[in-house]
Amino acid sequence: MAKRIVFATGNEGKMREIREILGDLDIEIISMKEAGVNPDIVEDGTTYEENAMIKARAVAKLLPEDIVMADDSGLEVDYMDKAPGIYSSRFMGVDTPYSEKNAEILKRLKGVPDEKRTARFVCAIACVLPSGEERHVRGVIEGRIDYEIRGVNGFGYDPIFYVPEYGRTTAELSEEEKNRISHRGRALALMKEELGDI
Ligand code: IMP
Repeated sequence: MAKRIVFATGNEGKMREIREILGDLDIEIISMKEAGVNPDIVEDGTTYEENAMIKARAVAKLLPEDIVMADDSGLEVDYMDKAPGIYSSRFMGVDTPYSEKNAEILKRLKGVPDEKRTARFVCAIACVLPSGEERHVRGVIEGRIDYEIRGVNGFGYDPIFYVPEYGRTTAELSEEEKNRISHRGRALALMKEELGDI
């Protein structure tokens, strides 16, 4: 068994979540920055899984003795033909604030009834093992696009993503509540099961 899991992200929030969920695996978990690598990665895949694997392979090439993981995620709005999807961070431009991106989605869904406002967050996690073996998993959380921006927690599209079971947007859930049900939380839990097999 390798000594470390290196996660290909620079996002501290994600690292916190990853450590919380994989923490009891009895293996050191570090970010690629902590591992001292930062490759230029072109995410030109056509699916979440492809993009996650592109990132994982790029880092694994530099750290062949570690277990390397990477994720890719996005929001699919059914009424917008599943956009922004894999282009979620690039939607309307990477530098456009989410207040504007969220306002635009609310505008496009103006007058659209509940049953047509279905949406989901998707997260794929890819893993490359020191043996060269590759695995990937996918986690999903289903919900609806809300009618207004609500909540201040989380990030990105959280203030417009309504979870019917909770009667709140993911921006109104605590970090703990969101991790328990989120696409990333679910994908991480599945990846943990995969790791149990190796
Ligand atoms: P990436 O996988 O870090 O590239 O994230 C893709 C993009 O999807 C993010 O920049 C957000 O726009 C969106 N996204 C992914 N997960 C979430 C989430 O949990 N809440 C809100 N937005 C998310």
